Amino acid sequence: MTVPAWPIRPDSPLHQHMRHWRRDFHAHPETAFEEFRTAERVALLLESFGLEVHTGLAQTGVVATLQGNRPGHGMLGLRADMDALNLQELNTFAHCSKHVGKMHGCGHDGHTTMLLGAAKHLADHPDFAGTVVFIFQPAEEGHAGARAMIEAGLFERFPVDAVYGMHNWPGLEAGTFAVHDGPVMASMDKFYITITGHGGHAAMPHLGTDPVLVAGHLITALQSIVSRNLDPQQSGVVSVTTMHGGDAHNVIPETIKLSGTCRSFSPQVQDLLEQQINRQVEHICAAFGARGELRYERHYPATINTAAHADICADVAGALSHQSVLRNETPSMGAEDFAFMLQARPGAYIWLGNGSAEGGRGLHNPYYDFNDSILPLGASYWVQLVYSQLQG
Ligand SMILES: [Zn+2]
Ligand SMILES: [Zn+2]
Repeated sequence: MTVPAWPIRPDSPLHQHMRHWRRDFHAHPETAFEEFRTAERVALLLESFGLEVHTGLAQTGVVATLQGNRPGHGMLGLRADMDALNLQELNTFAHCSKHVGKMHGCGHDGHTTMLLGAAKHLADHPDFAGTVVFIFQPAEEGHAGARAMIEAGLFERFPVDAVYGMHNWPGLEAGTFAVHDGPVMASMDKFYITITGHGGHAAMPHLGTDPVLVAGHLITALQSIVSRNLDPQQSGVVSVTTMHGGDAHNVIPETIKLSGTCRSFSPQVQDLLEQQINRQVEHICAAFGARGELRYERHYPATINTAAHADICADVAGALSHQSVLRNETPSMGAEDFAFMLQARPGAYIWLGNGSAEGGRGLHNPYYDFNDSILPLGASYWVQLVYSQLQG
């Protein structure tokens, strides 16, 4: 790759350090709120760079602050996630996971490393006005570590003006950035439905209420929500993914349980999906003489960038990338708990190309590995973002 003026050069001593840190994190993956070793290493490195370090926010969260050498009141939040997945790694290279059933299959090892690299460079070259807040969060993968940090007082203790996030993106060429003006990632909700009928002999169905039949109607009806209730210009997903009930071919069961997930890109669509599922569960079950119960759980909201901050990111990325910055690619239906931070503060979350996703190199794949060649670019992006936003 030809390289424009990156503050952190490829194959520089800092790049070598980052590669070493990244592979060490990769070899020692830790999952939700158990990132003890990772958090300790992160805190020790930040202290060694000379930052002021705060540990134990939401158990394993680490926050470090760095003042620029010029006066200023601006405060910028940069966030990385530290957690791994419950996934058995199938790679065999030297730095593959040493922990059975756990793996850095989403590249959070790389995210943590890039933010550490930026902290090191900025500590050595604090040519900015104001304060940078480096946020290393636990439990991004399904356990809302970002929300836990916010509830632990993150933004009261560190009242940043804006907060920024970044995720590596397999399928985007290494060195390419993608920036969205609005939604980047979808909301993620879960629902659990219990249909209670009246069990009995399968040869005498008229004496009972068959929840299997009700489940069939309900599953079909739920698929009408996206096609008939949602504005065709909007996006949404309703997926029924589990169905349990019944033990014998000649017994009508008492209950059937269903569960599934919903995705969307706006709170309005999220509300609509929940309301329609609620209505169908109640009335379709009632129409058959059965009883329907719904438990609807909101997990992650949609990750929605503020347009002005997306522009800032695109300008910074554009000055660094040897390729063009992609604007407003199709958002992902995956979810991301940085959404909670963007609900609390303005900011933006961007993608950085990790290279081809083929051959099992996609996110959450047992053959995935973070691409170490993008470490200096990602860290340089953080550095330049600070220089551009904290000018005093
Ligand atoms: Zn992930
Ligand atoms: Zn991730």
